[in-house]
Amino acid sequence: MENNQPVRIGAHYSIRNGYTGAAKAALAQGAGAFQYFPKNPRSLGVKDWNRKDAGLCKTFCAEHGLISVAHTPYPSNLALSEEEDGSLFHKTVASLRNDLEIAEACGSKGIVVHFGIYKKSNPLQGYKNIIQCVNRILSDWKGQAKLLLENQAGNHGDMGMTIEELLQIRKLCLNPELVGFCFDTCHAYAAGIWSGAGDHDFWEKAGSLGFWDFVECVHLNDSVYPAGSRKDRHARVGQGYIGEEALTQFTEIAELGGKPLIMETEAGPDLTYREDIDLVSGWASI
Ligand SMILES: [Zn+2]
Repeated sequence: MENNQPVRIGAHYSIRNGYTGAAKAALAQGAGAFQYFPKNPRSLGVKDWNRKDAGLCKTFCAEHGLISVAHTPYPSNLALSEEEDGSLFHKTVASLRNDLEIAEACGSKGIVVHFGIYKKSNPLQGYKNIIQCVNRILSDWKGQAKLLLENQAGNHGDMGMTIEELLQIRKLCLNPELVGFCFDTCHAYAAGIWSGAGDHDFWEKAGSLGFWDFVECVHLNDSVYPAGSRKDRHARVGQGYIGEEALTQFTEIAELGGKPLIMETEAGPDLTYREDIDLVSGWASI
């Protein structure tokens, strides 16, 4: 069981010095987990990645007990229609499959992908598109790395703002065991599904739906804007509207024991994440 383990605090690291370089930087700054872009975050191009570096990263992480997740490029949109957006759909599937293979080689838990953007009038079609795309990415996938759906802030339309949608998509996929979640605290707060410290309704609902069991990664971000703003602007932990008390509650969720809490914010004054990692580690009494 993972539940007796402490959460793993970490941040997003550059692969400027390779996947192994990201892992080493994370460890040097006191992180127990890290996130990285497996390739250029602005492009869906398939990367001919460095197998040796990825293998070294996997070994290094195993030796030092580091957990990692990969974040897919920003243009990745699961809600595209194969029929209407054919070539972009296929490009997206190939890109995400490439991300999964890199994540697997690096020994990562999975690839984080935003829920999807669908702006046409029939939302049901958007959900069907997401399921179709997820099924295609995971067809014949034999690895351990999972596809991790991330909740959205509501800045790109209405879809993917609730935990019910994430659970429903997972349930309807052909391989739900290969689908997990990445829960972003800033997005949840901005979407208005969670109003911060003391929001017991949200805790109870998430618990009773079994949501945390499928969360493989938390993005522990504070928010520059108030609850319900639908603006996706991350603030350093404890420096935004969500605040320390509410974020501390995330470090105490039993089901998240052993899982990564990743900060996606700017580095501290020393250009590392050490300050924020130490801060959250203190909240989590690690
Ligand atoms: Zn995020």
